[in-house]
Amino acid sequence: MAICECVAHKSQYNQPNPIQSHQSMAAKKLYESFSKSLLDEVQRWGSMKQTGVSLRYMLEFGSRFTDRNLILAAQFLHKELPIRIARRAIELQSLPYGLSEKPAILKVRDWYLDSFRDLRSFPDIKDKNDEQEFTKMINLVKVRHNNVVPTMALGVQQLKKDLDPKIDYKDLDDIHQFLDRFYMSRIGIRMLIGQHVAMHEPNPPPDRIGYIHTKMSPVEVARNASEDARSVCLREYGSAPDVHVYGDPNFTFPYVPNHLHLMVFELVKNSLRAVEERFMDSDKIAPPIRIIVADGLEDVSDEGGGIPRSGLPRIFTYLYSTAKNPLDERADLGTADIATMAGYGFGLPISRLYARYFGGDLQIISMEGYGTDAYLHLSRLGDSQEPLP
Ligand code: ADP
Ligand code: MG
Repeated sequence: MAICECVAHKSQYNQPNPIQSHQSMAAKKLYESFSKSLLDEVQRWGSMKQTGVSLRYMLEFGSRFTDRNLILAAQFLHKELPIRIARRAIELQSLPYGLSEKPAILKVRDWYLDSFRDLRSFPDIKDKNDEQEFTKMINLVKVRHNNVVPTMALGVQQLKKDLDPKIDYKDLDDIHQFLDRFYMSRIGIRMLIGQHVAMHEPNPPPDRIGYIHTKMSPVEVARNASEDARSVCLREYGSAPDVHVYGDPNFTFPYVPNHLHLMVFELVKNSLRAVEERFMDSDKIAPPIRIIVADGLEDVSDEGGGIPRSGLPRIFTYLYSTAKNPLDERADLGTADIATMAGYGFGLPISRLYARYFGGDLQIISMEGYGTDAYLHLSRLGDSQEPLP
């Protein structure tokens, strides 16, 4: 069984393993619930070539959709999604340090296998009716995967607790790289499904093409995201510094508002936490966080004391957080709620992936003892192909 071999191969990673890892019986059982033929098919599809979609294409395609176009798009997804999903399922089985056997990761792996099976067992799409059924099915696939990020975070936190705290974070490079590929791929899959499903909305809001807002105001999105971040901060600390947003609210460009919202939300949460913790016990008034929105650039700037030099090389890894591990607070390890202020260490790396998905980037400049600037470069929906990990 090819997929099982991957798990067996994992032992080669495990040579310098700081923890004892073994494949649990529970893991074996779950495994056996997927037939050998399905797992063989996952291997086969996982080695096929992925096809990226240009974002300009998503925009143009969505603006002139006809039944014929929708059928063509569904046929493309019917072939493309199983390839992307199979690659992720295979990788999920072969993670180092026993990460693959963590119950949360097994759960995610099963979602991927279930979705692969749903896609592969769907017959060829020939007419409008097939297309509509297919659209319903992929929407359910998307819903099934809603909680992948917090569930993966739970698995990674479980691993973090097991690891020797003295481990050099560079030894965890393959985990970080895997997570970067994994989440980047997820962003792409959800974008493709989301766009396709949105094409069927009876009354799409004006200036919307699926997830894309053709006239998104980055100032408006930044305001909403800041308010959301402030309410999380208020809940956690009982107070929240002000956030001032500068820029022309009438300036717009085509982008996915949800993506920008997520990035600004994470950056502002980080700034709020830094400022709050620095000024909580002082009699000085906490200085506001400033967001400056310029053409294609957002700068989130705070006077929260900056990031210690020793931590800087690690801020984009998934295991680095100076906040306390949220799982320590939670008795029930089966649930994961990522809408906390901080502690999972996922905010920066995930935000950077969202920026990069559309050809942008995220940079952090810190002045230790003073504050931090996060520069978010947003690329307008250009001709850049989707990054395909
Ligand atoms: P989390 O917020 O869950 O810890 P992030 O990826 O968002 O994860 O941030 C990682 C770490 O980087 C934080 O724990 C914090 O130590 C540091 N950091 C990020 N942004 C700032 C900031 N604006 N000021 C000070 N430290 C920051
Ligand atoms: Mg954060």
